[in-house]
Amino acid sequence: MKIARFNGGRIGIVVGDTIRDVTAAAGIDPAEWPPIGPVRLIANFATLRDKFSTAAQAAPAILLDEARLETPVPWPNKVIAYPTNYRDHAAEMASTTRADLQGYFLKANSSLSGPNDAIELPDVPGSEVHHECEIALVIGREGRQIPAERAMDYVFGYSCLLDITIRGKEERVMRKSFDTFTPVGPWIATADEIPDPTDLRMRLWVNGQKRQEATTKDLIVDIAQMIALASSASTLYPGDLVATGTPAGVGPIRDGDRVTIEVDHVGRMSVPVVGSKHGSSAVFSTPYEFKRAPA
Ligand code: MN
Repeated sequence: MKIARFNGGRIGIVVGDTIRDVTAAAGIDPAEWPPIGPVRLIANFATLRDKFSTAAQAAPAILLDEARLETPVPWPNKVIAYPTNYRDHAAEMASTTRADLQGYFLKANSSLSGPNDAIELPDVPGSEVHHECEIALVIGREGRQIPAERAMDYVFGYSCLLDITIRGKEERVMRKSFDTFTPVGPWIATADEIPDPTDLRMRLWVNGQKRQEATTKDLIVDIAQMIALASSASTLYPGDLVATGTPAGVGPIRDGDRVTIEVDHVGRMSVPVVGSKHGSSAVFSTPYEFKRAPA
């Protein structure tokens, strides 16, 4: 099942090129604040799935092209992210750290944005803002100290995720937490939609030119181990998002660009990049020259 959020917090099931409104069946008030309905939906999905199927069949078909899709989980408990989790990206960054040795970091939940939101480039002259193509895991159950053998039972679904990043030596959390720096979408594909999560392929294009491609086969810390590792420190909750890392091919994005990401069996999301007046501060006043390690 593909579960979308659209048109101001409504919940929809995606069927082909249409979306069916199941907001009432989900028991969600689209206007609620904070918007935690999707977290409750994920927590209660076992009892909602059949209701959604029935409601989706009865609902009028809205063309996807005519719906405004939004980030599927706007208010999660946390956004976990893994650094340097593909060997080829470790090589291009000449990275001395890896996800298996360093563990995870967090991105601000407020950096989440959706398929119809532009990536707003901060005003950080002298620094590059990069795209990172990633698969998002959506956690489905609460758990702590989850063994890797049972970890896949905690995956609710998958989505496309862009981990937008200012390159530099400033605090990583700040470099990755500007508003709109975590586009997620276009919806969540539930785990049963993915035939083999150990070989799930993703691709990223900038202005139609392919820049990144990898499968989860290439991960240093695989999906099950990522859940085990994260839950060794933190209780995972339904709706938590995990940015699983990016492969080689990261690079700068500029005002006017369009970034497109696709994850097999999930879908494709394409977002524009615009300049912004936000972000200038003493923190980012020192220019930083990004150097790719020689291949
Ligand atoms: Mn990343």
